[in-house]
Formats: sequence, structure tokens, C-alpha cells
Amino acid sequence: MTPFTLQEFSESLDGTWITRAHETAIEAIFIDSRVILHGKGSLFVPLTGNTVDGHDFISAAYEKGVRNFIVQIPGKAVPNELTGSNIYHVKDSVAALQHIAAWNRRRFEGVLIGITGSNGKTIVKEWLGQLLSNDYRVCKSPKSYNSQIGVPLSLFGLDSNYQVGIIEAGISRPGEMQNLEKMIQPDIAIFTNLGPAHDANFINREQKLNEKALLLQRANYIIFCSDHEPLCRFLKGNFPEDRLVSWSRKGAADYVFSCKRREEGSRIVMMKPDLGMFTFHTGFTDEASLENLCHVLTACLTLGVSTENIHDWLPQLKPIEMRLTLKSGINECLIIDDTYNNDLAGLEVAMQFMENQPLDKKRTLILSDLLQSGDEASVYEKVAELMAHYGVSRLVGVGSAITRHRKVFDVPAEFFPSTLAFIKNLSQDKFVNELILVKGARKFAFEEVVRGLEEKMHGTVLEINLNSLVQNFRYYRSLVSDATKLMVMVKASAYGGGAPEIAKQLQVMGADYLAVAYSDEGVELRKAGIKLPILVLNSNKEDFKHLVKYELEPVVYSLSLFKRLANFSLINDSPIKIHLDIDTGMKRLGFEEKDIDPLNEWIKTTPLLSVASIFTHLAAADDPSRDLFTQQQLKRFLDQAKKLSKTMKQKPLLHALNTAGIQRFPEYSLDMVRLGIGLYGVDPVGGTSLPLTQIGTLKTPIAQIKNVLPEESVGYGQKGHLAKGGKIATLNIGYADGFDRRFGNGVGFVLIHGQKAPTVGNVCMDMCMVDVSSIPSAAEGDEAVIYGEGMKLSDLAEKIGTIPYELLTNITQRVKRVYFWD
Ligand SMILES: *Cc1c(COP(=O)(O)O)cnc(C)c1O
Repeated sequence: MTPFTLQEFSESLDGTWITRAHETAIEAIFIDSRVILHGKGSLFVPLTGNTVDGHDFISAAYEKGVRNFIVQIPGKAVPNELTGSNIYHVKDSVAALQHIAAWNRRRFEGVLIGITGSNGKTIVKEWLGQLLSNDYRVCKSPKSYNSQIGVPLSLFGLDSNYQVGIIEAGISRPGEMQNLEKMIQPDIAIFTNLGPAHDANFINREQKLNEKALLLQRANYIIFCSDHEPLCRFLKGNFPEDRLVSWSRKGAADYVFSCKRREEGSRIVMMKPDLGMFTFHTGFTDEASLENLCHVLTACLTLGVSTENIHDWLPQLKPIEMRLTLKSGINECLIIDDTYNNDLAGLEVAMQFMENQPLDKKRTLILSDLLQSGDEASVYEKVAELMAHYGVSRLVGVGSAITRHRKVFDVPAEFFPSTLAFIKNLSQDKFVNELILVKGARKFAFEEVVRGLEEKMHGTVLEINLNSLVQNFRYYRSLVSDATKLMVMVKASAYGGGAPEIAKQLQVMGADYLAVAYSDEGVELRKAGIKLPILVLNSNKEDFKHLVKYELEPVVYSLSLFKRLANFSLINDSPIKIHLDIDTGMKRLGFEEKDIDPLNEWIKTTPLLSVASIFTHLAAADDPSRDLFTQQQLKRFLDQAKKLSKTMKQKPLLHALNTAGIQRFPEYSLDMVRLGIGLYGVDPVGGTSLPLTQIGTLKTPIAQIKNVLPEESVGYGQKGHLAKGGKIATLNIGYADGFDRRFGNGVGFVLIHGQKAPTVGNVCMDMCMVDVSSIPSAAEGDEAVIYGEGMKLSDLAEKIGTIPYELLTNITQRVKRVYFWD
């Protein structure tokens, strides 16, 4: 970024100096100490987050050479320990970050494109970046850095090296766009569309539209699709005609497109009154991609890119992986597939992703030439620095530029002039037990490299996205008051996700309690190093000694269980913490009203059993038509809990709410709530859109592809048929893995290359067959997604008459669980 000094800003930031040293030029800003390569010339701005406080890393940043700090908690920056530093205290460090970002933006003399809207922002940004970089030096934000913090970080990347900047602006609630606009001040704004995302946080769509449109205030050109009626009406009503650039697939607009879908792709015909008519080709056929492309084309033409260039470059655009993902590779390797662009910012993000994987594997980088403006030698020096910083100990370089600079790399390295040369050299034992980042610019077609490294006949995996877990957790945390404790249900192997790993994460995030169904599950968690208190829902006499040995806290639901446990604790002289389950209408386990008085007597005379909590379980908290019953349950619970706790010296925790309860009756959060299915990303209520993400993706490879004639049958009992003939894929997943047999015969489907492939015939024990006739690109070894993004578990469950809980917990132990951060 444009160099500056902290002193220059001290007045406009409206804070106070904690200590001042020499003025030093600042060229980079960091909010995460782990990603700092050289502290010299850097500013560290610690932010206070939900789970970590950046201020705890001030000394780590100092040790890396940072001498400039903007802090929000002055007590955490001790001048004596940070000698020679400039430390400035502000009320709000995010605001300070934004202020500097806005300053850097104003210094930028190129064209700045800002993108807002509900869907497609990141893809429009990436595609536009790819097309424009043929004609201009383009700076764009990595991935979806579009938030209150992501946008400033993106804007710091702008400097006089670039001619065009592309920044995405994402908001989730009112009040946010004002800030983003102040920073971005786009010259050209693209408004992609207005959909339901984040509706819940706005009074209505109108308010959301108004909010998003704040980005357009100062833009010279506003690009939008006039086929979106409310958006078009709003823009025409609020902005002068000469700033609006419209496109349409239906009627009159500045640019009119007609898209014709063919077997192998689409033909886009563009009409512009003063330019004439042009035809472009693209491999995309789906509606969303075509809409995104029309935005991209309109923006390119508005910027003056020639139709010839667009024509040549358009077919090169490829689908964009929105997130970095891990794939299982040959010889126990894991592959991070990031093969659609390659610049320094993207490389750094990918390396951070690598850093975050909880894996003990050697790190390897397979890298193509970078598409990065600036001095070539210094670009590769920077790559070598990043590799050293992130502990990458092996390199494969592909391309002439990286080969020219091979001397800067001091780890074992090989270089190849082309992707083809590398693939020819790729033997099966070349990589063993490594974490491999595959990062290549589009034209190097590194997807071939990934294909070569991927383990072909690998079995079914359940991938667990730990980031989504964190977000879901935070969402439910935000629904209840800070004083309310959060117990998380990790029974049934954490709803299929794998209890030890998920529990470890919950411990880090600050859950207060865990709950399991049986003592064995609790023992497993203790052995994995979980220190949180653990409640055990069902225990019997055989378990008692484990409860004591592993400090597990049983639920007591009957007088007979209470007596047995009381005897055990007396004989062994071991105090035990217990939880009392009150049956208020579920009619499952629990004390009933008649038991309360005798229970009270027992409690009084059994000091070794201490009551840690009293709870009840709601039978129908998800169903508004049962609210009267639920209210009754809650009222009964409060009455009976009061009677019980009257005689107790220590006041026990009271809790009643499961996930649906938290969503619908937060006023009954009491001392604690019990979060279950919601943490795993499933909304048990439905009807509104909550900011939840399913944490698991169940996938499996295609084992074989076959042609099927109309007269042939597929699978057991000859139940499957393709009336017109076609192609089927056999998948390595069956009912013994948890793919329910009721999904057979077209009831269920899987996603292959993002397209639906319905089942054909009966699901077998270890395999099933799906129809891929309409997915010509499906190949053996390709991945089929059974459950994942874009498929609502509740919809799938409904197809076979069950509930998401059952789908999740049916995924059997032989399915490998893989955990990652994105
Ligand atoms: C499973 C369970 C929960 C969590 O239920 P969800 O619907 O998954 O939120 C809460 N309390 C008890 C007693 C449970 O058994």
C-alpha cells in the first residue's frame, strides 16, 4: 500500500498516544500476528473477537519486528515490553482500520469497481478480474473478503502498481453499507441482484435494497439487470439516467443479451445500439452463471474492453471453487485444490488455510507461474518468503517464469516447463503423506494435476467444516444472554460428526458443558483430553465406577436409580455430581410429580450426591401448533424445580431448551440451554432462513460408469430402468454406510459436478447406482456429494419419511471423518 506514518494519522483517528518513538514508514497492516512475515514497516491492529482477543498477540507481533500498534485495550500494550514502538490508543480498532483503508482508497488513481447484491458477487469479481487482467493490471480482494474487516484488508492492497481495483461489499444487517461505501467509493458499481439472503435481519426487502444501494451513492456508472423489476424501478427512481447502465435478456436496455443453450455450452448474442451485434461462447449453461456473465460482459464493455478480446478470453472462464477444500490424495496425502487463479494475495490466503489444518504432515507446494504485476524477481522472492514462513518444505514449480527464478528457493525443488511435462513425470510414489497445496493460474490447467494426485478409489468420507461449526455455535450463543450457560449435545458421536474432534473445538470456543448418551462416550471424550464437565443421559449400575473415575455426571431420572447411586457413593465414599430429569410431559425418562416429595427426602439424607442441575425436555418445541403444551411443560418444570431446590444448599442450574426451544422460547433460557442439531447446521424449526451452515459433507467417488440400454435393468431385483437408455455411475456408498435404502429407485439423488443424479434401482449394502445421462462430464473417480451444500437435509429426510437427526446419525463408523477449516 501507499506508505504512511502513524503520526500522520494521529489526529484524524481521534485517539491518544500511549507512547511515541521514531516515525517509521508503514507499508503493510496486519490484524493477525501469525501471518506477519516481516514486522519491519508493518502496523499491527489487534481486534477483539468473540473467542480470541488479538491484543494477546501484541508481543508475538513485536517479536517479529513490528514497531507500530493501534490498540483498543491500552492495558494490553505495555510500553516497557515494547521498547522503540509507536503505540496509539483508539476507542474502536475496526473503525481505525476502516479509516486508514478509506485514506488508501482515496490515493488510488485507477478505476475502482465495487460489487454488491445478494448472490454472485464473488464469482462476478473473480471472472471480471480474470477478463480485465488481459488488458489491465488488476487488484482484487482474495476470495470473499467483503465484510467490515475484509474490505479494509482488501483496500490495503491497492497502490499505484494497479490500474483497476475490484472490491466486493457484503452486508448482513442495516448500518453496514454506510461504512463500506465510505471506504470503497466505487467509480463503477455493480448491483448483481436482490435475493432472500439475510432477510431476517432487515425489516423488509425494501430496507435491504435501500441499504445495499448506499454503495452506489457516488458511482459514475451503476451496472444492473433491468429484468429484476423492483431493483430496476428503485434505481430508475433514485439515480439520474446517465449514471445507469442496464442490461436485459427480455427487452429494452443499454445492452441486450440473448442466451442460447446448446449441448456443450451457451451462445450469448449481445446487441448494443451503437456497437451492433456480437456473439460470444461460453461453457456455462446454468441460469446463475449466465446472469453473472452478463454482468461481467457489461462491466468489461463499460470499461472499454474490446469485443474481440472478450470473444477470445470468455471461453477460458472456468467455474470457481468458492471455498478452499481438502481432497484425499494418493499415499495418505491431502490436497488443497486451489487451481483457478494465482497471485500473491491468493497464495497467501491458501497458505493460511494450509496452516490451519490440524495435520501433522510435511507441507508441499505445487505452483505455477504467478500472474502478478510488479518486478518478477521480487515476486518469486516473496513466494520463497511465504514458503519459509508457512513451513513449506518442498516445491514443484511449473512454468518458465518460476523456473527462471529457481535460485531463490532453498528447499528441495523441481521445475517443469509445462503442466504436461509435470504430469508425465508424476509417478504414484512421488508424494507420500504430504499436505500438498496445488495452486496454479487458470491457463496452467492444474485441475489435471489435482486429478493425478487424487486418490481414485478412496472410500466415502464425511468432511466436517470446523469454520461452520464455529459460526453456528456463535449464532446460538448470540440468541441467549451472556449469563446463560451453553451445554452442547455431542451424543451419538456428535450427531454423526465425530465426538472427540468436535468436543475439542467446543472446548476452545468456550462451551460450558457437554452431554453424551452413555458413559462410554464420556470416557472416550476424557481419553481425548476433554476437560469440560460432561453430563451422561443414561447410566446404569455397571457404569458407576467409570462415572467416578472419569468425572462424568449422570442424569438421575428415577428414585430407584437415585437409591442405587446413593448406595454406590456411600460404599465407595465418592461424591458424585448428578442432574435431575423432570418429566413434564415427554413421558420418556424423568421424575413425575408424585416423586418430588420422596426425592426431596432422599436428597436431604444423601450429601454425597450433589445436584448440579435440574432439567426437563420439551416434546414439541419446534411446532407452533403445540405451543400451549410447551408452555405447560415449562410452567410445570419451574414449579417442580422450585419445590426441589428449596431444600438444597447449593442452587442447581435450571435448563429446559433444546435447539428448537432456543429458537422459539429464548425467554426460557434460564441458567443453561442444551444445543443439539442446530450446532450441526440444521434448523429444526424451518420456515425462516437462519445463518446456519451444515457442517458435514458426505461424499464418495464414482467407481465405474456404464452405458445402459432401454431394455436393460439395473441392480437387485431388476428394479432400475432408464426408459430412453443412458449412462449410470456406480458409487461406493450403500445402506451399510448410512445411505438409506429408501433413497433407491429415484427417490434420492446425489450431486455430481453440481448437477442432480437420481438413484437408479435399489440401493445395495455397499454401493448404489445413479443416473448420469445428463452429466456428460462425469468420470470415474469424480466425487459425488450425498449430503452437502445446496441440499437441505430436512428436504432429503422428508423424501423418505424421516428427520435430519436420523440421516446424520446413520452415517456409520466405517465412513472416514475428515476435519478442516476454510
Ligand atoms: C438430544 C437432546 C437435546 C438436543 O436436542 P436438539 O433437538 O438436537 O437440539 C437436548 N436435551 C436432551 C435431553 C436431549 O436428549
